[in-house]
Amino acid sequence: MNAKLALYWNDFLDILFPRCCEACETALLGNEKLICTACRISLPRIDAGFQKDVLRGKFAGNSEVQEVFAFLAFTKKGRVQHLLQALKYKGVPEVGILLGTMMVQEMQERKCFPEADLILSVPLHPKRKAERGYNQSDAFAEGLSEISGVPWSGVVLQRTVYTKTQTGKSKIERRETMQGVFAVNSPESVAGKKIILVDDVLTTGATLQGCIDVLIESGCRSLYIMTLAAAQ
Ligand SMILES: [Zn+2]
Repeated sequence: MNAKLALYWNDFLDILFPRCCEACETALLGNEKLICTACRISLPRIDAGFQKDVLRGKFAGNSEVQEVFAFLAFTKKGRVQHLLQALKYKGVPEVGILLGTMMVQEMQERKCFPEADLILSVPLHPKRKAERGYNQSDAFAEGLSEISGVPWSGVVLQRTVYTKTQTGKSKIERRETMQGVFAVNSPESVAGKKIILVDDVLTTGATLQGCIDVLIESGCRSLYIMTLAAAQ
C-alpha cells in the first residue's frame, strides 16, 4: 500500500473502529497513539518536592536508596487510574512502555535521570504473570530502557512466594507479608552495581521494600526507585 493510501485507510479504520485515549476516552486523532495529545501534556505530574520529602521518606531506613521518582499523580477514578487499569487489567502493556519513554524524556530535560548500570522490574509470581500474560512493570522498564539506554532485566529478581492482594492490610502487615517473597537470581549481576528498581504504583512501599532487602543482601551498591504513579 502506498503512503497516501495508507493514510486514507487509517482514517477509514478510525471511523469504523474509533480508537480512544486510554486516559480520557476521547477519540484519538490521526497520528495519536494510546494517549491523546491533551492528556500527554496535562496528566498530573508528581512534583519534585513531594518525591524528595514524602516518597523518599517511605524508605527512610535504607541509606542505599539515593532517590525516589514517581511520574504521575494517582487519584481515584481519575485519568491516571484509567491508564493503570489499561496497563494491568485490559491487556495494554504498550501503555507502560509509552509512559516509561515519556518519563525518561521529561527527566532528561530536567537533567535528573540518574546514571545507573541496570533497570530491574518488580517481578510478578509466575502464576500471576501467566494469568495476565505479561508483567506490567516489565513494560514500564522497557520504556525507561529504550530512551535512557540503561539495560533492563525482568529475570534477575524473582518472586518465589505467591501472595494474595494486600488491600486492607496495614503497612506493618504488608511489610511482614513481603519478607522472603523475593529472591535474586544472579547475585553477580547486582553486586557493586547502581540499580534502578521499577514498579507500576508506589503506595506503602512494602513490595518495593521486599525487593530492596534482597538486592542489598546481594551487594547492590546504590538504588534508585522509579514508579509510574503514586498517590499525592
Ligand atoms: Zn486523553
